[in-house]
Amino acid sequence: MGVVLRWLPQVGLMVVLFAVLLVSNPREDLPTVAAIYAGMVAFSSMSLNLLLGARLPAIERLFGGMDKMFLQHRQFGYLALAAAAVHWLNPPSFPQFLASCDDLCKAAIESGEIGFKILMVLGLLSWARRKTFRGWRLPYQWWKWSHYGLLAAWWLAFFHLMQNRKMPVVYQQMAEIIGVIGALCLILYLVGWVLRMRRTKAYVVESVTRSGGVTGIRAHPKTHGIRHRAGQFAFIHAKKTGLREAHPFTISGGEDPDGVVQFNIKGLGDYTRRLHDDLAEGDTLVVEGPYGDFRYPDRGGKQAWIAAGIGITPFLSFVRSLPDDLKGEVEMVYLVRNETEAVGLDEFRAAADRVDNFSFTLHPSDDKGRWPGLSADAGHQAVLFCGPPVLRDILKKQFGRKLRFEYFEF
Ligand SMILES: Cc1cc2nc3c(=O)[nH]c(=O)nc-3n(C[C@H](O)[C@H](O)[C@H](O)COP(=O)(O)OP(=O)(O)OC[C@H]3O[C@@H](n4cnc5c(N)ncnc54)[C@H](O)[C@@H]3O)c2cc1C
Repeated sequence: MGVVLRWLPQVGLMVVLFAVLLVSNPREDLPTVAAIYAGMVAFSSMSLNLLLGARLPAIERLFGGMDKMFLQHRQFGYLALAAAAVHWLNPPSFPQFLASCDDLCKAAIESGEIGFKILMVLGLLSWARRKTFRGWRLPYQWWKWSHYGLLAAWWLAFFHLMQNRKMPVVYQQMAEIIGVIGALCLILYLVGWVLRMRRTKAYVVESVTRSGGVTGIRAHPKTHGIRHRAGQFAFIHAKKTGLREAHPFTISGGEDPDGVVQFNIKGLGDYTRRLHDDLAEGDTLVVEGPYGDFRYPDRGGKQAWIAAGIGITPFLSFVRSLPDDLKGEVEMVYLVRNETEAVGLDEFRAAADRVDNFSFTLHPSDDKGRWPGLSADAGHQAVLFCGPPVLRDILKKQFGRKLRFEYFEF
């Protein structure tokens, strides 16, 4: 059931396009109709991916957060690859129209061919990015820049669709409708870029702390700051050699009317380690956001919050904004290897003393062994989790749709 729901947007697109095709009352042979259909699915998936890549707040909310939106982006990418491959292997053939295919039409056919090859290479690169080859992974930034090449594939596919005049009129009309919708997605993608610039603010690093491999950053806006809700995240980079790549991090500080932000960043890879070593007070930090929709239900009832390792940061943000008269009951468990690794321990303990309905348990596995898990019949109406995928999958099986979680990886 979970898999079906996850692929619902892709299935929905395929069903809608199938219905559109039926309305055109196709009379050609099955392979030709299948080829037309595959082409429609491939182009529409690519167009929707422009929309999903635009980081528009309204679209993000629709999917319940950017992490989930990017998951759908990836799935539409796989659908585009599969459908384009079907279209390319089995191209539609209308011999009666070939004679009237002028230079523009021939260029459109050629552009489809080139667009397909770009899509395949960059699509396969995106798939490979998530794999490890003998301990080596494609660096994220290499992949990120290569991914913009898909805009070229989209343009070529758009030209292929709009200028390919060797089809019956009804298919040309469908192509034009899909092309115009695709062009709208491109416009929204460009609008997204403008909005991103407006959501990007310059900050000054006020303090940097280093403890147990975690860098704590506090920064205030140079002029105007961002306004975030507890649990949201931002893309940040510093204006300093080696720290100019933007990476996503949860804003672990509470909601702040002056736009002050805090981050707690675990040095797990090249960038986060460099940040740990090189970021200093007074540096300029560029903050783009806020994004994300990870939040706790505030309508009462019993809920559990489970954080593991650096997955503590959204909960740190919740606790820093937790009202004294919290509705409902929150039971929080923080899983760490040992107490020295824990971040913000004093604040969680202080919150447990201050707020009646909030309880906090630290579970250091070095002393207490494996965490036994939550009891399924404890009556939790919601379970919030942030931490490693293995544990998330276990909780997902146990709590199904009651589980809310944040992916720490796109
Ligand atoms: C919504 C969200 C919130 C996060 N919050 C926190 C937090 O509060 N504290 C914390 O320590 N970590 C957080 N992370 C994880 C953090 O973003 C990654 O650990 C960091 O980007 C890794 O970069 P690296 O170069 O050090 O490691 P690498 O080993 O180079 O990268 C490890 C993985 O991180 C991802 N990644 C790398 N670079 C980027 C990038 N520029 N943009 C997006 N993803 C990238 C890729 O999936 C990559 O495979 C969060 C991630 C997300 C998605």
